[in-house]
Amino acid sequence: MKYPVLLDYDVSATDWDGPCELVQCKRALHPTVLGDAKYSLNPYGGCEHGCIYCFAPGHTHTDISLWRVVRVKTNIVERLSKELDFTEGQIALGTVTDPYQAAEGRFRLSRMCLEVLQRKGRGVFIITKSDLVTRDADILKDMDATVAITVTNPDDRICRMTEPGAPTTRERLKAAKTLVDEGVDTIAFIAPVLSSLEGREEELLQMIADSGIRTVFVDQFKPRGVTMDRMDRMGITSSEKAERCIHEVGRSMGFKMLPPRHFR
Ligand code: SF4
Repeated sequence: MKYPVLLDYDVSATDWDGPCELVQCKRALHPTVLGDAKYSLNPYGGCEHGCIYCFAPGHTHTDISLWRVVRVKTNIVERLSKELDFTEGQIALGTVTDPYQAAEGRFRLSRMCLEVLQRKGRGVFIITKSDLVTRDADILKDMDATVAITVTNPDDRICRMTEPGAPTTRERLKAAKTLVDEGVDTIAFIAPVLSSLEGREEELLQMIADSGIRTVFVDQFKPRGVTMDRMDRMGITSSEKAERCIHEVGRSMGFKMLPPRHFR
């Protein structure tokens, strides 16, 4: 089987060697109602971050025990390039899985997708928990791009429990500062709002403010099925109390608070 996208660079040049499977996708773009975006784009299936609240396995009919095996869509750049000619509007990168999870360091599909989007003059909205996104600041600052950095708690110990494979909040916000300094439009995405954040909302908002971000987008979700069982076992729930507090404190700190939208 041929993987044309992977032939033009040396995949052994980076040291990521997590479990993965090379697959081909039928379509790169799928309609979405996320914010201003018209289509979603996800170069990877599965996600190494392994967040306890992740509902994407159910959404994509993936066995949860295999969710952290990354499915690398080797033909996605080629598909994207063709499909962009028949679509219009902004593209949301990373609506189902993180486009900058560690596998991206090796496969660089998100970067190659950005190169295509930039060439074709299309806007992009990126959602990520990973500091790897700063690698692509050179492209992002020269295109219509917004990066949403997801954060859920100021305490790295709690993040390691709830988002075990993801960079810590400190690392994410350091990356946000780099992007802001590079002139890339960067916002914070506090989602989901969990009970583990109660009492520490202001601390998280202060860390966000220190990164230079001035816009915050908060979203909630209702855990179901396996996700709810897993969160129940850890004594964590979604929290409307923390959500109300974020809005109140966020406004008093001068953040632009975007209205809630449906999100993963
Ligand atoms: S980063 Fe997103 S897709 Fe990945 S495990 Fe966490 S919630 Fe799921």
